[in-house]
Amino acid sequence: MRKKVLVLGGNFGGLTAALSVKHALDGDVDVTVISASDRFLFNPSLIWVPFGKRAETDITFPLAPTFEAHGVEFVHAEAQAITPLAKRVSTAAGTYGYDYLIVATGYRTDMTVLPGLEPANGVHTITTLPDAVEAGQGWRRLLDDPGPVVIGATQGTGCFGAAYEFLFNTAYQLKKAGLKKRVPLTYVTAEPFLGHFGIGGLPGGERLLKLFCKKEGIQTVTGTAMAEASPGKLLLDDGGALGFSYAMIIPPFLGQQVVAATPGLADGKGFVPVHDTYQSVAHPDIYAVGIAAAVAVPWTTAVPIGVPKTGFPTEVQARVAAANIAARIRGEEQPRRKAFGDIPAVCVMDAGNNGVMIIADRMFPPRKAGVLLPGPQAHAAKLAFEKYFLWKARKGHVRLP
Ligand SMILES: Cc1cc2nc3c(=O)[nH]c(=O)nc-3n(C[C@H](O)[C@H](O)[C@H](O)COP(=O)(O)OP(=O)(O)OC[C@H]3O[C@@H](n4cnc5c(N)ncnc54)[C@H](O)[C@@H]3O)c2cc1C
Repeated sequence: MRKKVLVLGGNFGGLTAALSVKHALDGDVDVTVISASDRFLFNPSLIWVPFGKRAETDITFPLAPTFEAHGVEFVHAEAQAITPLAKRVSTAAGTYGYDYLIVATGYRTDMTVLPGLEPANGVHTITTLPDAVEAGQGWRRLLDDPGPVVIGATQGTGCFGAAYEFLFNTAYQLKKAGLKKRVPLTYVTAEPFLGHFGIGGLPGGERLLKLFCKKEGIQTVTGTAMAEASPGKLLLDDGGALGFSYAMIIPPFLGQQVVAATPGLADGKGFVPVHDTYQSVAHPDIYAVGIAAAVAVPWTTAVPIGVPKTGFPTEVQARVAAANIAARIRGEEQPRRKAFGDIPAVCVMDAGNNGVMIIADRMFPPRKAGVLLPGPQAHAAKLAFEKYFLWKARKGHVRLP
């Protein structure tokens, strides 16, 4: 009897895991992907959508042809219930059984973190495509009627890179529009210091980020939680207030409802606690990768922050989970282990026409090596990587780096 592997989610984690397990067993396994979205979305480019530098078609592609080309069944549906004891997942399109389940359902944004975080108040976010499109409408209104801009990352978030990228892209766009002097720009963050990034910072990082901010005339407020937003006003927990005409705030992520609602599967935030094999702690035949997998924050900060579950570790986790499932199907021991904190940090922070490459041997300290390489080559690298990654994912070349 051919084994059945069911994958929930078809983005970074789901696409990589589904194709990797299919390839690892030379096709001798039934793999089905169930995804709420029928398109792959390259989320790292959402930072450019509000400025009109990218549209939906530039950063998405249809999933069905990619999966079909690799003999993987694709179901465009939302998973509504997971029943681990019966090894079943229900969707509006039917019920699917599995021998092994891979949860790669990513995130939903926790908008409750900041009452008033809504476009009607001039407060935007860019964590989903519709949000980024709406943030673009607000941006165009700002260009017509300029005023102060606030960019921020709330308490509990881990996606600081996106906040920094949007901040420096905003500075670049304001300069291009001749508005740099007329529009005060402020960055407010829960990070204890600039350049913490949710990974504890890297040598020289704080100094570099301070330099970038000084050069662009950006005011910064660190180690701060946000209390409430209303039209034109952002209240901070310490009683301070920032006025704005346009704000973009990155809120924390939560796991999907279907995962949170599965008895015993998820933690309080809806993420799946996993071993370093990416096997669920509660259910050995369920694996979780990418943002869906829980990661314990290894430090305490005055204002709580999360860790950045970025694309590179997501792909590593997906390959580890796929190799382990393939081994179990072959009747072998699980060969791969890689805790999140041991995965290298590889990221590019774009700054419009400049940027910083972030490379470290481990996500979490202690590290043997960690460097930040600033310069225009980082911007070029992000542009090239976007094209390369979309090509690689669309073709299903998931073994490529
Ligand atoms: C604005 C922004 C900028 C970023 N920039 C970078 C960057 O520069 N570099 C970097 O490395 N990372 C970046 N990231 C992080 C990167 O996007 C994530 O690491 C990556 O998306 C994680 O992939 P995933 O597959 O775990 O989750 P997701 O990408 O969230 O994919 C989850 C998939 O599951 C589907 N799904 C959800 N619920 C269900 C359900 N109930 N049933 C079935 N399917 C479901 C969704 O439709 C989606 O297709 C950024 C993220 C954001 C938001």
